[in-house]
Amino acid sequence: AKRIPGTSLALAERHFEQMSSSALENEQALRKGIRNHELYLDYQPKIDAASGRLLGLEALARWQRPGVGLVSPVDFIVIAERTGLISELGAMLLERACRQIAAWRLELGACVPVAVNVSPMQLLNQGFPQLVERVLRETGIPPQCLTLEITESAAVENLADTQTQLQQLRNLGIEVAMDDFGTGFSSLSMLRELPLSTLKIDRGLISPLPAPDAVAVVTAICRLASALDLQVVAEGIETLEQANAARDAGCHALQGYFYARPLAVADAGAWMVRQFSN
Ligand code: C2E
Ligand code: CA
Ligand code: CA
Ligand code: CA
Repeated sequence: AKRIPGTSLALAERHFEQMSSSALENEQALRKGIRNHELYLDYQPKIDAASGRLLGLEALARWQRPGVGLVSPVDFIVIAERTGLISELGAMLLERACRQIAAWRLELGACVPVAVNVSPMQLLNQGFPQLVERVLRETGIPPQCLTLEITESAAVENLADTQTQLQQLRNLGIEVAMDDFGTGFSSLSMLRELPLSTLKIDRGLISPLPAPDAVAVVTAICRLASALDLQVVAEGIETLEQANAARDAGCHALQGYFYARPLAVADAGAWMVRQFSN
């Protein structure tokens, strides 16, 4: 069939070609970026709501892509998942975080738990608990120094497998947090069935604090978490009012720009030095 330029079909085809070629370029760039160490981790502090002390850090992936600039993890994690690169990337980031924990531990003689984000596909990889075990062994860090953050979507689609994987990770002595709690996937029964240690309440529920309806929701989540013996982290704290409301509602830990943005290794190290020197 002859194509008539300017018809919607021709436009759609051209759009499709552009999309798929840029998707391919993105995949190749990410592959190369992983090889060339263009990806790294920043670390965002989590604060103890009661004492104001540093309670832990969350490792957040960054990609400084040559000629493009800083690419959001939201964008490159999707590429990695779609192309199967996530296993390699996830393993690389986990090792990176654990080596950093080991370095801080050597320097400071102690550690605060560092949380590493795990994508659903990565978590459901058969060998994932074994990978974590190997990385802990090779870096020599105690399991209490590592937390894993998982999101609900994996669990919802595959509850039995998620349960098995998480139990193996808990058996290693690692804490597991449910990330983005309250964004839509999680059913309450799942909380009972999964061996979790922590709930992280999504920024979407924290931002409206101290509005009374938001206070009611966060308070209810904290009560539920307490009944299930789970710690609660409020994420996305940007103001003092939000911090106070989240603490009063029963959140144990607070995280957000109000305390600190995700920090480069050296700045995160300085926070830890302060933590262990007073
Ligand atoms: P997340 O795990 O929910 O991480 C929290 C995100 O909120 C981070 O964005 C963080 O920089 C941002 N944030 C922290 N405090 C505040 C605040 O007060 N206000 C606002 N507006 N934002 C705040 P980031 O670093 O862009 O990461 C986005 C998402 O990408 C993460 O959401 C996580 O789902 C994913 N991600 C990041 N690093 C990794 C990784 O190493 N592995 C995997 N699988 N996913 C990752
Ligand atoms: Ca997270
Ligand atoms: Ca989150
Ligand atoms: Ca989020």
